[in-house]
Amino acid sequence: MADTHYQMFIDGGWRDASDGVTFKSVNPATEEAWADVPEATEADVNDAVLAAHRAFEEGPWPRMKPAERARHLRRLADCVRPYAEALGRTETTDTGKLLRETRWQAGNVSGVYEFYAGLADKVHGYTPMTGPDDPFLMTVREPVGVVAGIVPWNSQLQLAAYKIAPALAAGNSIIIKASEHASCALLDFARAIADADLPPGVVNIVSGGGVPCGQALTSHPLVSRITFTGGVETARRVIPNTANNIARLSLELGGKSPVVVFDDVDLESATNGVVAGIFGASGQSCAAGSRLIVQDTIHDELVERLVAKAESIRIGDPLDEETQMGPLATYQQRDRIEDLLAQSVDQGARVLTGGSRPRAFNKGWYFEPTIVDCDHQELPVVRNELFGPVLSVLKFKDEAEALAIANDCDFAFAGGVFSKDVSRALRVSRRIRAGRLWINTYRVTSAQVPFGGFKRSGYGREAGIESINDFTELKSILIDTSGEPVADPFIMR
Ligand code: NAP
Repeated sequence: MADTHYQMFIDGGWRDASDGVTFKSVNPATEEAWADVPEATEADVNDAVLAAHRAFEEGPWPRMKPAERARHLRRLADCVRPYAEALGRTETTDTGKLLRETRWQAGNVSGVYEFYAGLADKVHGYTPMTGPDDPFLMTVREPVGVVAGIVPWNSQLQLAAYKIAPALAAGNSIIIKASEHASCALLDFARAIADADLPPGVVNIVSGGGVPCGQALTSHPLVSRITFTGGVETARRVIPNTANNIARLSLELGGKSPVVVFDDVDLESATNGVVAGIFGASGQSCAAGSRLIVQDTIHDELVERLVAKAESIRIGDPLDEETQMGPLATYQQRDRIEDLLAQSVDQGARVLTGGSRPRAFNKGWYFEPTIVDCDHQELPVVRNELFGPVLSVLKFKDEAEALAIANDCDFAFAGGVFSKDVSRALRVSRRIRAGRLWINTYRVTSAQVPFGGFKRSGYGREAGIESINDFTELKSILIDTSGEPVADPFIMR
């Protein structure tokens, strides 16, 4: 069967790369190529940016009443819904993520567009108190212009929605670059944009590698705002590009999130929370709770339960509704995990379960749910974001030690605290340096919840009410109300 042929969505129309070059999408569960995806050239990126720029400078979008933009966003939400099943299947075939999850996320994306539709006419400036003889001062918020969004391969429909929806609600136009490991669902999503009949150029979706596509987009002189989600090393390559266009940048990067479990917990509930945090999406989540920090008095019992749970996880075809864990998205990812795990074992880490490719599969980039006992913080499995189903386990004696271990990390994206003592759980959550903390749960989220990290996990926040302001410029306007003519500026009074 011929591979499915995808096209990019630029200026309201569909097109191949200008030189006709494509790359293959490979299904991580079967290792078979199944789709041809355009590899955008610099000229294609330039076309997309020019289309977005025209839409911003000449088109109706930024000039529309905010309530009318809200109506368009609600229509987009309605147009996405019928595609949820198909989008989920495409994303699962593209990335190996469970259909149960991709289908749910694709359906949920509509809610993100509705959430920001609700905010479109609630963006406001302010009039501060000034002296009666001072000029009257007001601030207004205006769209920033052309926004470039770069998304990683995981949860890309949702992550793109957290960029597209607030950017559009605030009156901007946008270009999204899909990851080369997962372009197809985003290119399919563009069908909903076409159905919603947004003005041409307001949303453009391009596919292609980090270089030239991502590089050309983030350094383009007409781009005013860049919202990047991905790994810290890639961010280090994007940051210098903004020296070109002085675009405002926000960075949603990786994590190595601590989950602190105190000895007063309900062990069954804590086990489920820890498992959800690390083995959901095969551990391929920026918020993965990959560092378990457990009180020494319950270490053995909790670990025993976690091992039993990990060994009961049904690994398999991500399209199968019964499967609980699918493959990793790329073989490079699996190779990297194996390498860091081997280094850690050499340095004293003990693999309690997993650690290998499951024997039942001779195809697919599968990796077993893995739990590693670690007696110090310097092990590569403790220090690095693995982006896979690997949990490192560390012990603590008291609250102070738990906090010291939790905060001894370059990343600070998220974290969890399990304890029946609410005061303690809240106190510890306040003291863990991270952008998001869960207490007695993990992984649950919604469009209302801002996310983003401290330290090497990036800067800026996505989702939540405030993120719409990050897609605006704040302008101050001063008005003389004295009724007097402007005095001679060279006479000092
Ligand atoms: P990645 O390798 O950093 O790629 C992210 C995006 O950047 C991709 O679209 C990539 O394109 C693009 N890119 C690569 N080089 C570029 C360049 N020079 N200029 C501009 N763009 C460039 O990350 P990934 O492997 O896709 O995703 C996993 C990482 O994302 C993990 O670290 C994870 O924690 C993080 N993440 C963070 C969040 C969050 O909200 N904080 C959410 C999800 C994931 P290609 O793929 O085509 O190379």
